[in-house]
Amino acid sequence: MSLLSGSAEEADEHTGKGLYLETYGCQMNMADSELILGSLAAHGYTPVESPEQAEVVLLNTCAIREHAEQRVAQRVRQLIAQRRDGLRVKIGLAGCMAQNHRDRLLESIPGLDFVVGPDGYRRLGELLAADEPVVDVKLDRRETYEDIAPRRGEGVRAWLTIMRGCDRRCTFCIVPSVRGRERSLPASVLLADLQRIAEQGYKEVILLGQTVNAYSHEGVDFGELLRRAASVEGIERIRYTSPHPADMNDSAIAALSETPKVSPYLHLPLQSGSDAVLTAMGRGHSVDEYRTLVCTLREAVPDLALSTDIIVGYPGESEADFEATSAFMEEMAYDHAFLFKYSRRDGTHAAKLAETVGEEEKGARLQRLIAEQEERSGRVNQATVGTVTEVLVESPAKRQKDWLAGKNPQFKTVVFEPAGARIGDIVSVRVEAAGPHTLRGKQVDSPKS
Ligand code: SAM
Repeated sequence: MSLLSGSAEEADEHTGKGLYLETYGCQMNMADSELILGSLAAHGYTPVESPEQAEVVLLNTCAIREHAEQRVAQRVRQLIAQRRDGLRVKIGLAGCMAQNHRDRLLESIPGLDFVVGPDGYRRLGELLAADEPVVDVKLDRRETYEDIAPRRGEGVRAWLTIMRGCDRRCTFCIVPSVRGRERSLPASVLLADLQRIAEQGYKEVILLGQTVNAYSHEGVDFGELLRRAASVEGIERIRYTSPHPADMNDSAIAALSETPKVSPYLHLPLQSGSDAVLTAMGRGHSVDEYRTLVCTLREAVPDLALSTDIIVGYPGESEADFEATSAFMEEMAYDHAFLFKYSRRDGTHAAKLAETVGEEEKGARLQRLIAEQEERSGRVNQATVGTVTEVLVESPAKRQKDWLAGKNPQFKTVVFEPAGARIGDIVSVRVEAAGPHTLRGKQVDSPKS
């Protein structure tokens, strides 16, 4: 969970109507919250730092797993219970959980004022003016919000949504039904926004989409968009998430290897290392095709860091399927992995299947993969000790006084003893120690920007 809002001074001095926003879930939701802030600015709303300062309290939600929805339901009930009598504070839900449960939410959460899905944000200003509880969950396959400027947060890194929705039909996934069909923004709009991002001083951009590499607009594919994005001066690094393995075509791979600004880091969801499970999930590729893709990528980009998503306990996942996942993760030598227990989502194809792996067994499988990945990440990171890596400095280090922290091109967190570096600089750091989550070192040159 994160809180998206303006600075403390802005909150104290806010002149418009106060908007308190909490964001749950993926980076697309974070970017959507920036869009909501941008859209509501035109209606006189300014972000505030606490629900007590707000006229509107909005939770931008996630539906990907049941647990994510339960947390939000609990939080919104708590906020409604805290609403002081007599105050006209409106409380509402936006995003994927809102879309998933729609008007049923008004019944199940008494006191809720509004429910708005991912394609309803441009109407939010009007919804907030309504006297009655309102629901806007119309999906619109043309909605890209290309004319709405997001209100981006502070920092060295900006998000840029390049496509919305998902046309894949992974059997476990609720995203296609809550975010609708795939649609891409025009390259000209994205490049103009990138120009603004550069002018605002951001050094890195993360291109976002549910299947980001399915980007396609009037003959411009994802690879071509990466090349064009790299021509924007001031943007030093380009990342993207999440690509789908089956959409990782030659154009994208060539752009990765030939465009120095495109970072050598790829988050490539695998879900399972068993062909039987991949087929049951409708992922559209086999284990061997994924292996071949990673070999090609590693040949093209030798210093590539690789991370993945894995689901354990999908209906029908046998002990042997699970062992295949564990072994394949080791073979891939992932730098990092996001590991999940399968969560049944009503409305998906997989919801019709009987669950065959008990909660306890799912937990045990998850714990085993977590332990294996922790050990593997430590080993992979240890191999970087003694090398020099380029760090985009983003903040003071959390634990070490006077040290700084940032990410290297492989998206690893590096904390280091500075020698003149400031936030926003790109500096060379010699790695002196490494754990599974962090590299530590010393700055060895003067800043480059
Ligand atoms: N579009 C990406 C893809 O599948 O290639 C991933 C998007 S999803 C927001 C992030 C991850 O959540 C998925 O890769 C998957 O591992 C996990 N996930 C999605 N649905 C799930 C479910 N029903 N249960 C558990 N994990 C799930």
